[in-house]
Amino acid sequence: MSDNTFNPAGAWGFPKADPADHPEEPAHVRPEYLFNGELEKKGYHVEELANGFHWVTNSFYDAAFIETGEGVIAIDAPPNLGENMLAAIEEVTDAPVTHVVYSHWHSDHIGAASMFGNDVKIISHDITRDLLARWPDPLRPLPTETFSDEAVLDVGGVKLELSYKGENHCPGNIFINSPQHRVLTAIDIVSPGWSVFFHCDASENMTGWIDAHDQILEYDFDALISGHVTRYGTRDDVVAAREYVHNILDHSWDVLRETRGNELMVEAGPERRWTWAENEFNRLANEVTHRTLTQTTSNGQKWTERLAGASNMTKYHAWSIMESVRLHRTHDDYQRRGPAINKYIW
Ligand SMILES: [Zn+2]
Repeated sequence: MSDNTFNPAGAWGFPKADPADHPEEPAHVRPEYLFNGELEKKGYHVEELANGFHWVTNSFYDAAFIETGEGVIAIDAPPNLGENMLAAIEEVTDAPVTHVVYSHWHSDHIGAASMFGNDVKIISHDITRDLLARWPDPLRPLPTETFSDEAVLDVGGVKLELSYKGENHCPGNIFINSPQHRVLTAIDIVSPGWSVFFHCDASENMTGWIDAHDQILEYDFDALISGHVTRYGTRDDVVAAREYVHNILDHSWDVLRETRGNELMVEAGPERRWTWAENEFNRLANEVTHRTLTQTTSNGQKWTERLAGASNMTKYHAWSIMESVRLHRTHDDYQRRGPAINKYIW
């Protein structure tokens, strides 16, 4: 594909990444199920993480279901898995799905929920229900039961602790903890072993999203269901992801504090304000990206060695986190008079 086909917009569009510039995914994000023909044959991989608690994945999206003895609880219904999630459930039990928990309202994680039929109870946060009521979607039936802060879903003695700690990836995104299985579900915060998808997994509140890494670590769990990508997570994965996003956050603070020049505005000219803005913000994000990817991390490796896709995705996270620092967090020098020629960013 010529670059012109990839980017007919030219200077107005995004450049194309060259595979030669980016490392292959490290072995720790390529588990055995990717190589044993399962995905080609069935379209999914299902794995029992603890007694009756099953993880389902297609190596892009994942979800979970739990056998209770009184029916199955499904957690999420990603359309990318679609009815392969039903197939996974049918592979391990004849019991019907009686309960569905929505992690959050995003279609890419619950957009296949109508496949569970009309007789299931659907549990979510209040905000998730409000959002789905505002933008109705027959593929995402309205929750039948909601909660605001904490709730326990008890089905046949299997207890799921549901908790809302405020907006992070999106409003209404909840933590779903099963102490008896030692499995925590927290979607679109961490992608175990990976740098997450663009812009912190397209999160709406980067500050809440960064905090959510600490909130995950407050739980006592062995396995984390995270929604993406190739595997479920461990505490070590969350600790690594936390270090990575805090590196980006720290570099963002530093780079913004160091910003004093207006050369790019002079270069763009007074009548090309957004040419300056594009260059200046991209320059700052590039500097944050450079510092993040060239530093040595806590285990002696670079992030490009530790997290799959870090060389592609870090610049997008840097852009979003830097912008959240500028917009969410206070800093020096708010009160001043006189020319502000050197302080356009702040
Ligand atoms: Zn989401």
